[in-house]
Amino acid sequence: MRAVRLVQSGRPLELQEVAVPEVGPDELLVRVKAAGICHSDAHYRAGKSRVHSLPLTLGHEVAGVVEKAGPAVRGFAPGGRVCLHYLATCGECSYCQQGSEQFCASAAMIGKHRDGGYAEFIVMPARSAFGLPQEIPFGQGAILMCSSATALHALNKARLQPGESVAVFGVGGLGFSAVQLAKALGAAEVFAVDIKPGKLKKVEDFGAVPINAADCEPVQQIRRLTGSRGVDVALELIGLPLTMQQAVRSLAIKGRAALAGITDKTFEIAPYGEILNKEAEIIGVSDHLASELPRLIEWARRGKLDLSNVVTRTVPLEADAINQTLDGLERFGEDVRVVVTP
Ligand SMILES: [Zn+2]
Ligand SMILES: [Zn+2]
Repeated sequence: MRAVRLVQSGRPLELQEVAVPEVGPDELLVRVKAAGICHSDAHYRAGKSRVHSLPLTLGHEVAGVVEKAGPAVRGFAPGGRVCLHYLATCGECSYCQQGSEQFCASAAMIGKHRDGGYAEFIVMPARSAFGLPQEIPFGQGAILMCSSATALHALNKARLQPGESVAVFGVGGLGFSAVQLAKALGAAEVFAVDIKPGKLKKVEDFGAVPINAADCEPVQQIRRLTGSRGVDVALELIGLPLTMQQAVRSLAIKGRAALAGITDKTFEIAPYGEILNKEAEIIGVSDHLASELPRLIEWARRGKLDLSNVVTRTVPLEADAINQTLDGLERFGEDVRVVVTP
């Protein structure tokens, strides 16, 4: 089968011909119908985040059709539409048992630790697969599995309550979902901060108050718009020290800043004024939970989460097309989400 793979860090991905993977007793072979191209993939290609061993097929946002089910699999049959939680876990350790499987010592992420979805087929334990209702197109099912799921996890970690206000820093794939999910969870006001007018226009259509950080100082603007109170929840979804600092500085008393953007750089904060005095919290967000996916799939099915504007483009399973999309992500371009359709 064809697979677009990272062969060497810092080099463009390459199209390779590889064997169709073998299916274990409790595994599914899935024919990939859509695989989202994520900002993390640009980090893997650049060597900024480490992948397991090379060559490796990237792509961790996958939806498709069951081609073959192992003999021990129950609940899935060939022809079934599925989307895949991106972690293959042991299912038995204490973290797996308590539903925090992202900390499972043997967790292997597709497209990072094991072969991912930029291919014609992928193999995955059946317990990582979720039925994808007919109403949700494959492209949207794929991106539900990363950006939407992580946005929901960030809001859950930040303990968003109905009636609270939210600021979302960064309107990419995560931010677009975060705005809608915050509304679905009952947020009274959602401010969306970015520097791209096109992206801000899109989230405005979903009821967010756009703040263009290229034209103003976003923290001052949030304070002005909230009667100097600040927001109850701030999400940082970009991974820049400046926006992390802004997220914390925009908090109200007892506010919670959830940081989901990835960076290895440090950021400065004045502890007394910004944290202690307000009893504010800074919360780390790592991935998301399989247990959060059914709710997300149901919201997407009912249109409470509308991803039709999020998939801005599809590309074929070709190295050039995927590399160019990754180049665009590195430049923080206007595309919200691009999906590979093999
Ligand atoms: Zn992703
Ligand atoms: Zn485990």
